[in-house]
Amino acid sequence: MSLKYPVYERFYTWQGEGVHLGRAAYFIRLYGCPQACPWCDSAGTWHRDYRPNGVTLMTAADLVSVVQQESPEGAFVVVTGGEPILFDLAPLVDALHAIGRRVHIETSGIAPLRGDLDWVTLSPKPFGQWPEASVVARADEVKIIVHDLGDIRAGLDTLTGLRDDAVVWLHPEWSRARNRDADVLNAITEAVKATPRLRAGYQMHKLYRADDLDAHSDKRPIPLGGNLELGY
Ligand code: SF4
Repeated sequence: MSLKYPVYERFYTWQGEGVHLGRAAYFIRLYGCPQACPWCDSAGTWHRDYRPNGVTLMTAADLVSVVQQESPEGAFVVVTGGEPILFDLAPLVDALHAIGRRVHIETSGIAPLRGDLDWVTLSPKPFGQWPEASVVARADEVKIIVHDLGDIRAGLDTLTGLRDDAVVWLHPEWSRARNRDADVLNAITEAVKATPRLRAGYQMHKLYRADDLDAHSDKRPIPLGGNLELGY
């Protein structure tokens, strides 16, 4: 029997952050995450107060079919969550490769990676488990979310074994960015100036509300680090 993935939502949009910023991308958001970040902007994938009525169980073949129907050739696929590394992604990645799609993952790296991913974005989280060494070593880019000033040092301390060519982003957590929190934004600026390897990041899709334009994206207002009014 084919493995079925619990799909919380899927939508065609563009990548709003990181090295691939601005490129057309099909997002598959899987259900479930044990990390419980208090500012999570995808709390519908795990928080008991925001559980959806149900998730759609889809095989790799099902997902290939919707990716082909709902996005043109050339758009890459981003598997995110929740925490997608909890699932065996090998069948899904292989099936998407077979139709010529590149596949990226966004993960907090808490388990071994399964699947021949083309791009790994690691976002270590300070609330649950730190990332596994094998995922740090595989990461193409790292996204450290900065809610409090100590988050920069704490995130960097998890990166032993990171490749020299991996890009390291410092992202203001969305409520901090939205409120233009001077302490957090200035701390990121100073960190980048002191360590030129680091880059200052932003969640550009939230300014555009780009994800919202797809009928399949979750429109429920879910708080935590998100914006009730905008639905993130
Ligand atoms: S790891 Fe990501 S999905 Fe999981 S709680 Fe933290 S921010 Fe949310």
